[in-house]
Amino acid sequence: MSDQILGIHHITAIASSAQANHDFYTRVLGMRLIKKTVNFDDPGTYHLYYGDETGTPGTIITFFPWEGAPHGTTGTGMVTEISYSVSATALAFWEERLRRFKIEAGEKTERLGEVYLPFKDPDGLNLTFVANTGSDERKGWTTKEVSGQNTVRGFFTASLSLKQIDETAKILTDILGYRIESHEGNRYRFINESITTANKIDLLELPDGKRGRASAGTNHHIAFRVADEKVQMAYREKALEKGLQITPKINRDYFYSLYFREPGGVLFEIATDNPGFTVDESLEALGTGLKLPDQLEPAREEIEEGLPQLIIN
Ligand code: ZN
Repeated sequence: MSDQILGIHHITAIASSAQANHDFYTRVLGMRLIKKTVNFDDPGTYHLYYGDETGTPGTIITFFPWEGAPHGTTGTGMVTEISYSVSATALAFWEERLRRFKIEAGEKTERLGEVYLPFKDPDGLNLTFVANTGSDERKGWTTKEVSGQNTVRGFFTASLSLKQIDETAKILTDILGYRIESHEGNRYRFINESITTANKIDLLELPDGKRGRASAGTNHHIAFRVADEKVQMAYREKALEKGLQITPKINRDYFYSLYFREPGGVLFEIATDNPGFTVDESLEALGTGLKLPDQLEPAREEIEEGLPQLIIN
């Protein structure tokens, strides 16, 4: 087992409607709802997880859908764009599909030698499809409408907007095992070579950028992947040595987490592969039941009544 950071584990963002969020990520983008639970710290709100068949780290996007939440402001100190890897031949399919579903999308553009297609989710969260020219053997979840070469494979990169990138770059290189790969204008791409997918992070330097305000349509945090808790705790020691304030290990039921805010203001998490999403549901049944952590189980009835309606199709 690797004792390194293995790229991105998951990214968590904020939405304003559980139903609209669910329909977009499962129906339009063709991802699998792999877990339906609640925000452990705010059980009146769902916590929805989408990814590939098993919820492989590097494919997982999660949302807190605060019903009716006002839109946040994208800005510095946050993840401001999530890029998904698709096959080179899938971009035309997605251009057509996004148009058909009347999804706000931009023009295909080239960046760092890759063609990408920018679009937004129903809350305005910035997403892109990148025609992955490298090898990405991940299959992605298959639906009736999104299958074969067209599936969303998982993360390609995530872009972080910062007033000044130096201190954040140091966290990536000195703690998390990334190195600078390429650079274009104010975009600096870092790569972690301990894994071949979901292994890039882009830092965008925006000296005059306004600070982002977290609410619907913005990203809450980004989690980096480690194999297990032993590796995780070694990274905790490393972070403490560098003077970072990092939380103790927190049990998130499907993984264990540590959190720290990097100097540029972005909330970073380090999350484990274990135990994974099949810990409380079979592979076939993933995402079908409302799952609660043990501490909230006694309040299940009340929690279920308080949650908004969510029709899973
Ligand atoms: Zn997280």
